[in-house]
Amino acid sequence: MARPTPPPRPVLADARLAALLEQCAALHAHLCPRQVLGVRMGLLGGRLLGLDVPQTGKRLLAFVETDGCAADGVSVATGCSVGHRTLRVIDFGKVAVTLVDVETQRAVRVTPSPHSRTLAAHYAPDARSRWHAQLAAYQIMPDDELLIARPVTLRVSLEALLSKPGRRVTCEVCGEEIINEREIVHEGMVLCRACAGERYYDPLP
Ligand SMILES: [Zn+2]
Ligand SMILES: [Zn+2]
Repeated sequence: MARPTPPPRPVLADARLAALLEQCAALHAHLCPRQVLGVRMGLLGGRLLGLDVPQTGKRLLAFVETDGCAADGVSVATGCSVGHRTLRVIDFGKVAVTLVDVETQRAVRVTPSPHSRTLAAHYAPDARSRWHAQLAAYQIMPDDELLIARPVTLRVSLEALLSKPGRRVTCEVCGEEIINEREIVHEGMVLCRACAGERYYDPLP
């Protein structure tokens, strides 16, 4: 009797990447090319900054330029997360991340190469679809073909962004508490950003 053939498995570049992808897929309920990109971007950025990733402390800060799959990949690879206040989503709708070493203020922005999709087909010629080709190829393509990394300087103040932990004030209009120095002082009044005009919702009567 013929033995059932096992399903094809993607070629993995290394065990560490495989472990991170497994962790990411568990978080995400599936594995997709953008998660692989996110993980690879996080690993490369960490390496260029000379920091071991994933980090457990607050030394590494990530600005991801989209929500979604790539952001989960970056988070798993770098250890940066919204909950640790080390990951911020700047929603430009781009698969891109800027990683910042808060101690040295060095920063590097990593994006996929514009050729990464085309090149994927060469790295996984037998894949069932373009999606499957990307999923497999992004795991084995060398960094310099998959990604572009450039040093950058930040236009935002890290000090203001990280703010003073433990600070707490109350909005003089809505009475809600504001933490992390996110209040706005207008004509001597302490306001939350919503009451200062940035409200993104309207209360129903
Ligand atoms: Zn996904
Ligand atoms: Zn308010």
